[in-house]
Amino acid sequence: MDNLENGSKFYNDVVATFDRAASYTNFEKGLLEQIKVCNAVYKFQFPLEVDGKVQVIEGIRVHHSNHKSPVKGGIRYSQFVNEDEVKALATLMTFKCAVVDVPFGGAKGGIKIKTRDYTEDQLERITRRYTTELIKKNMIGPGIDVPAPDYGSGSREMAWIADTYATFKFDDLNALACVTGKPLGQGGLRGRTEATGLGLFYGLREAMSNAEDMKALGLSTGLAGKRVVVQGLGNVGFFSAKFCLEGGAVVVGIIEREGGVYNAKGLDVEALFKHRQETKSVLDFLGAKNFANGMELMEADCDILIPAALENQITGDNAPRIKAKIVAEGANGPMTKEAEEILLKKGVLILPDLYMNAGGVTVSYFEWLKDLSHVRFGRMEKRFQEMATLQLVSSFEKITGKTLDTKERKLLTHGADEKDLVYSGLEETMISAYNEIREVKNKNKIVDLRTAAFVSSIEKLGASYMALGIFP
Ligand code: NAD
Repeated sequence: MDNLENGSKFYNDVVATFDRAASYTNFEKGLLEQIKVCNAVYKFQFPLEVDGKVQVIEGIRVHHSNHKSPVKGGIRYSQFVNEDEVKALATLMTFKCAVVDVPFGGAKGGIKIKTRDYTEDQLERITRRYTTELIKKNMIGPGIDVPAPDYGSGSREMAWIADTYATFKFDDLNALACVTGKPLGQGGLRGRTEATGLGLFYGLREAMSNAEDMKALGLSTGLAGKRVVVQGLGNVGFFSAKFCLEGGAVVVGIIEREGGVYNAKGLDVEALFKHRQETKSVLDFLGAKNFANGMELMEADCDILIPAALENQITGDNAPRIKAKIVAEGANGPMTKEAEEILLKKGVLILPDLYMNAGGVTVSYFEWLKDLSHVRFGRMEKRFQEMATLQLVSSFEKITGKTLDTKERKLLTHGADEKDLVYSGLEETMISAYNEIREVKNKNKIVDLRTAAFVSSIEKLGASYMALGIFP
């Protein structure tokens, strides 16, 4: 499949899931069509001077749904960016936000470049120009469209976007809220970098706490001792692997584009990440077996597979050989419809992308709130909370005649700071959303969680259109 076919397949699969889910709702056909379609597609080109020659760079931004403002979604930097892929990702963003009750419409953007072919200075010029093109069309702003990082981009690119926007809109007090995923010193939020992987971990842990569902898979509850394989050691893959490891799982395999590594006793994820930074490869990692073809490792004997790289990685071709009992989708659209049917028939529990990687947009929402309020979470109440608990502890000691040791006292009287509050807000969001999706699944006798998550989102979107009173 070339990248255009890949993009259309991805979009068609998202639309097919929507259509299947829509059949469980009672909304009028026209309203469902409005909920399904992408509202706006803006494609543009701009020149970049490289070594005295001009290159034409392609950019795109898609707004899927404006039922809420602003719209939100990452910007992908990849040579494979194409219109259908970005439409699929923008569509997913709408339903993802609805699943976790984040009050944004869905959007997505892309810059069609192979990042490794450009210097940092050139990437900065490309990012600033991309932002300028969006400003010119009024397609970016704290109340209009708030981008974020995606595949190939991170906090550095978000800082360039924020700075470009703030330069043009120098009198906008809320300018920094035009983008999320920024570095801390520029309106960023503690906990945003790891949010998607952390959210995946909370989601997986919640799903695995259900004894009935785990029994059906032949697994005990909880992550402890479960064998995990992760595809992609980027932002989502690295943090998913790290939190699963800290949660008691054994990360036996990691797959990157250059190949994969496997160790039945478990891999030290942080050491492997460092090893890849130093050697540019995951291969030849201490004590691990090399897999020159990383895709083979997707089929390794394990309990949980976390695809966290790109779309269409589990297909009709390799799905029959997948041995994992749970597939937790870190990436967007990592499996095709054909693969999904095969895995569901095999009884695999699929934890769908629009829920599993929603931690990123949830914490982006918190970052946007922080930028609009101009105050760090916890700043007003941390000390008050500490003093109030300290007084309670002192009264308790006086009444009981017992004294807490320093460690216990510190643990009890610690006031919540920004990171505590972000982690707690994310944990609450992921737990509530999982139980809501599971309830919709059971109530409607739906086979899979993806369809159930879409049904839950469509119901919310439908209700918000109906509230406008323009639909029957
Ligand atoms: P990233 O660029 O940080 O990491 C992606 C990693 O995948 C890279 O290390 C890359 O080398 C690797 N990779 C590429 N092709 C591969 C292949 N064929 N096999 C194995 N590894 C391969 O990107 P990311 O932000 O981690 O995004 C990954 C996925 O998660 C994307 O689908 C993205 O849309 C989705 N996502 C990201 C976020 C976020 O907050 N970053 C949020 C939600 C969803």
